[in-house]
Amino acid sequence: MVFRIFRCKESALNFQYLKCGAETYQFEVKPLGKSCQLCKSATPIVTLTTQSLKLCKGCFLRIQERRVLEAVKKYKMFGDEDKVGIFLSGGKDSSVLALLLKRLFPRLHLEGVYLNLGIGYYSNYVEEAVRRLCEKLQLPLTVYHLPVRDGFTIDDFVFTDFKDKVCSVCGTIKRYLFSRLAKELGLTVIATGHHLDDLLSTYLTLFFSGDFESIKRLVPVNPPFFPGQAKKVKPLFFIPEREIFYVAALEELPLEPCSCPHGEITPSKRMKQWLESLSQENRALKYQLLSVFLKKFIPMIKLDEVAETFNTCLKCGEYTSSPNQICGRCRRVALLERVSDRKLEFTMEEWDAISDKNDWLIFDVREKEDFLREHLEGAQFVPHSLLDDEKALYKFFKPYKNKRLLFYCYSGRLSYLFTLKLRKLSFKAYNLRIS
Ligand code: SF4
Ligand code: ZN
Repeated sequence: MVFRIFRCKESALNFQYLKCGAETYQFEVKPLGKSCQLCKSATPIVTLTTQSLKLCKGCFLRIQERRVLEAVKKYKMFGDEDKVGIFLSGGKDSSVLALLLKRLFPRLHLEGVYLNLGIGYYSNYVEEAVRRLCEKLQLPLTVYHLPVRDGFTIDDFVFTDFKDKVCSVCGTIKRYLFSRLAKELGLTVIATGHHLDDLLSTYLTLFFSGDFESIKRLVPVNPPFFPGQAKKVKPLFFIPEREIFYVAALEELPLEPCSCPHGEITPSKRMKQWLESLSQENRALKYQLLSVFLKKFIPMIKLDEVAETFNTCLKCGEYTSSPNQICGRCRRVALLERVSDRKLEFTMEEWDAISDKNDWLIFDVREKEDFLREHLEGAQFVPHSLLDDEKALYKFFKPYKNKRLLFYCYSGRLSYLFTLKLRKLSFKAYNLRIS
């Protein structure tokens, strides 16, 4: 659930990275031998995950740079005349992509874009990390503020039938915004941080579900689908995820220290864990699989020739292949128009201003000793471990189905998680922002 990259107090070079409980990486920078197996001089501090080479920082970083350079050249991802945009998420992948492209192509027109989707505490927090990253890399940044520009947030979808599929709506809206913003900013290429493990886990997930058409589209370069659209490229696709984390740690990139409250463990994340454990026995496995998919399997997939017709969306004017001429984004946004009250959070002042609180129950989700020391009048203690067990969570709150439930903690994050999870279970839950 938590995401952190931190330096331990005892050692200035101990990094840990946890994301949505599914991906955990640790990296302690310490000598792994006398000399690097490539340059034979500097001290090795990192092992390549796909070979058992122990390398110094310089040689390790040069290998990653070479992988990106080879990918860009081999697949002709962009040229001098292109305007390349990177949609920064605050995570390690897009941050490392920005760092490597900036370093390898200093004269390239490169810019960062951040989509602030208005997700609780999370979006603003990430925006700060992205701003620090762009400052460090001297990368121009455009911030698109969804609540300001479009009048809704991704969290608002917990009030719709998509409440259990917020990530799917978010994906549709992000893809739409990638296209729209690329046009607004005149970008000809969008570079994304998809890496080797992303690609392989998605290939395998799609393979097991028999969706060969989607596998065919999952290649290092996707040409524009609609006229005037930017080309999409994946310069990191030769790099294993763990090594991207090592680059982020060694380069001390400012990453976001928390995870999106909607993040879930998806089938593709489970596939990544499986792949990772198989690679422990065969370090070359990931590259073998990549080669099989790219060189053998994908060329064999024959798709039915369907003449792709597209129109412009009657609501927003963007291209769509939807037969009813309303694009996926506008269909989803229309659901929000039926929701009159989308309030999820109260400030202390707003809470104090509510005169009749008969209908309300207050829950304190801080540590028990803090609750026992002091708490808001009428508050009950709730252990935050309930968040890890949806059935137990539902059972605990079932008796209060008709009440309004107010949650608070120290920073408003844990209580926001309670609010969202219970909203998805159709409770009337709210967060109280104390700070
Ligand atoms: Fe969007 Fe889901 Fe990612 Fe959050 S975890 S940013 S909701 S796709
Ligand atoms: Zn539309």
